[in-house]
Amino acid sequence: MKDRVAVVTGGSRGIGRAICLKFASLGANLVINYAGNTEKAEETKAMCEKLGAKVVLVPGSVADIMVCEKLIAEAVESFGRVDILVNNAGITRDNLIMRMSEEDFDAVIDVNLKGAWNCMKQVSRMMMKQRSGRIVNLSSVVGVVGNAGQVNYAASKAGIIGMTKSLAKELASRGVTVNAVAPGFVQTDMTDVLGEEMKENLQKTIPMGRLGEPEDIANAVVFLAGDEASYITGQVIHVDGGMVM
Ligand code: NDP
Repeated sequence: MKDRVAVVTGGSRGIGRAICLKFASLGANLVINYAGNTEKAEETKAMCEKLGAKVVLVPGSVADIMVCEKLIAEAVESFGRVDILVNNAGITRDNLIMRMSEEDFDAVIDVNLKGAWNCMKQVSRMMMKQRSGRIVNLSSVVGVVGNAGQVNYAASKAGIIGMTKSLAKELASRGVTVNAVAPGFVQTDMTDVLGEEMKENLQKTIPMGRLGEPEDIANAVVFLAGDEASYITGQVIHVDGGMVM
């Protein structure tokens, strides 16, 4: 990872922060996108810098293609190239379909699915020219098995898998790999909103008997972004304590 350039969306907190810290600890430099929580983003930046990384922060929604253009342009301006793209930014707007608004459906698809497309579109040409590159997309157990109250989120995360496999086929001959990681339930702000009772019930559905930690997911993402994963493409790695087998 030494001196590699990694772009991580949604890197200010949660799983994204753990991914950034892991990259930084292995010697990579980082371009970190986030939606608007500057305090958390500055915290992550300082933590990565302490590990020796150079870090550039780029705020803005990945749902906006102009933000993604800027994100990649700033990476190139600061470091000259992009070796790794991690599409981690994600949101939930849960509700049963009877109560789910069209706005909530669109918002989740725009950030989780279109946001990843926006960023992949910006880096694909460059990585093809470089004849090297790693793209890792965050899917979810919900995109594989579904979940009541999350038709929007499940659609976005299932879409990520289809998009990952398709782009993997497009870029494979140029030495660029595209893979996905599908986390189970991980302890972050996203799952903090679930009540204690729901978390306890969830825990019972996880064969390993515990929710995941952000670092569990970061380890798989960084593996797929490294040299040891050079012959792996179009795959989905499930990091979920055994929920999907
Ligand atoms: P968090 O809610 O903890 O953090 C979300 C991150 O995404 C923040 O950095 C946030 O920025 C950023 N973000 C939100 N919206 C946008 C946007 N429109 N544009 C750019 N950045 C944005 O999420 P997690 O760490 O839990 O989740 C990370 C990824 O993992 C997501 O894709 C999620 O769907 C997936 N995942 C999570 C699971 C879990 O159990 N936690 C399970 C399965 C998948 P800011 O701080 O500025 O708001």
